[in-house]
Amino acid sequence: MWGWLRRRPRAPDLPDALWQATLARYPFLAEREPQELVRLRDMSAQFLARKEFHGAGGLVITDEMALAIAAQAVLPVLHLGLSWYDDFVGIVVHPDEVVARRTTVDDTGIVHDWDEVLAGETMEGGPVMLNWHDVAHAGSTAETGFNVVIHEFVHKIDLRDGAANGCPPLPSRAARLHWLAVLEASYARFCEQVKVAERFGGATPWLDDYGATALDEFFAVACEAYFVNRSRFTKDFPELTTLFDGFFRPRR
Ligand SMILES: [Zn+2]
Repeated sequence: MWGWLRRRPRAPDLPDALWQATLARYPFLAEREPQELVRLRDMSAQFLARKEFHGAGGLVITDEMALAIAAQAVLPVLHLGLSWYDDFVGIVVHPDEVVARRTTVDDTGIVHDWDEVLAGETMEGGPVMLNWHDVAHAGSTAETGFNVVIHEFVHKIDLRDGAANGCPPLPSRAARLHWLAVLEASYARFCEQVKVAERFGGATPWLDDYGATALDEFFAVACEAYFVNRSRFTKDFPELTTLFDGFFRPRR
């Protein structure tokens, strides 16, 4: 993979046809401002030079696949910088969702085993795990606000301060308190909507109800929608669009 990169190690610009094909495949990337697209292309090339892709389950990672992942992973840090992803190198890509066997012991000492279906997974300081099926369909699933790459890489951003709590590192205690106040209020309202829909047949919220799992998952799920379907997301969560703009698009 990256035969062209090995041939041109000092000029990590992406082949134009490959870049254009990526934009065509993912319209939510193509719709960025022209200056943002220049930056996205440049940072995607840098991302590819810094990260290592591993195909699992016999999956062979092509240049097209690696660039598809790189360009979507860069989107959240487009104005923040790639240093936010410095704590890891590896990206493991499975062909499809992964079933993980989980075990917990409850307060009474009883062991519970269950299977968890994972679209992706992120660990602090460890590799990011994704599944190609969801990455491949991210162009069409943007309509529903779904994006596995952004979800997992936003977890990386959240984890930068060591805590998976829905709050990325912020410059002051006041900023953190404000962030959590806004996010928790939106999360509480969303959880209530999900509960009413499930139990009483209320209207199903547009945002993926996986976001009602925990505050850090709500942050990741909300960011998926914010980055791939900003207009629809803003209808439901205008306060979060303002909050996220302040973090992901800082004024210089
Ligand atoms: Zn998650």
